[in-house]
Amino acid sequence: MAGKHQIDIDELLDGSMMEKARIRARSRLVDSVDSDDGVEVASMSDIHTEEGRLLEAFSFYYARLVVGASEDERLIARWAQAEAERAQQILNKDDSISIIANTYLSEVKLENGIWKIGLSDFIELCTGITGSRWRLPNCDITDGWVTLHDEGDKYSSRQKMARLLRERMKDDIKDDALDKMKKMDESLLIRLSEPVGMIRGLVASKTAETIALIGAGEQDWPPCMRKAIAELSQGVNVNHFGRVFLGSISRCIGLPVETTVDFFRTAPDFSEATTTYQVNHLYEREYTPSGCSKLKINHNCAVQTGDDSLCDQPWMDHPLKYIRAKQRRRKRQEGLDSSLNGNNSGDA
Ligand code: SF4
Repeated sequence: MAGKHQIDIDELLDGSMMEKARIRARSRLVDSVDSDDGVEVASMSDIHTEEGRLLEAFSFYYARLVVGASEDERLIARWAQAEAERAQQILNKDDSISIIANTYLSEVKLENGIWKIGLSDFIELCTGITGSRWRLPNCDITDGWVTLHDEGDKYSSRQKMARLLRERMKDDIKDDALDKMKKMDESLLIRLSEPVGMIRGLVASKTAETIALIGAGEQDWPPCMRKAIAELSQGVNVNHFGRVFLGSISRCIGLPVETTVDFFRTAPDFSEATTTYQVNHLYEREYTPSGCSKLKINHNCAVQTGDDSLCDQPWMDHPLKYIRAKQRRRKRQEGLDSSLNGNNSGDA
């Protein structure tokens, strides 16, 4: 499909043809964090049309790039789980279940509407599923085959097969995303900073994991964020745009609401109740911070050319990219330092 429609990585990341796929990917990612039932099936496009297939396939690839770029294994596991649950819901109804079962399982057969699965596959998959019907002593096993009996409306043979397939697909999706994560180069990580910030901010707000998920310590904060914090602490009034920016970037890097409220404490017009309400609103509505061009227009950018080498980079168009690039540089430096120390101690 990529070849046929000339979709390369640039098109997927920034091209106008893939814009809908990126929006769909965003909702797939949000569902994976937000919903208890996995990625919503109802909003899926019609995959029997070329347009629908393009949208579903490339939104999946884009979402996989974003979770890979997050370098957060918990987020990857969560997303894989949600995508697998979505697939299970589709397989409960769609006739493609035979093709999928034969793709993912080594021994599987359908006899008179009843599914049978090879014992080794079953043993591998059933351990991840709760419920007594999935325990071996309660299963009908003959000649190395486990029969997935129909339990009527309660649990049909087909639904059982879809449930087992979900386990296999979850592992497959997760391994694939982890593999992509290891192969990400720095420029790709930086280009994906904005959607990664969005999803991390969402995870932080949903799970109350307020420890900085993104691992952005103060040393990684961009000059525009520091400027807003410094001005507020000196009692200087920061304009509305700057305040919204500070609240939304704080959310994206996983700072707790209380810390963000504290930034405003010395503002000339500070009111605990109003600020807490407004910051909560920003967190709940999952605002993402504005990019550099808007910050510059609104006088919230902190640098002139030559002040900060990262801000001077031609690709620098978002403060979240600044954080990502800074983290990468720091990690690289730490790696260099430790290998140097290692070499030195070896010499001694
Ligand atoms: S160039 Fe962008 S990242 Fe750097 S200070 Fe200005 S707005 Fe912030």
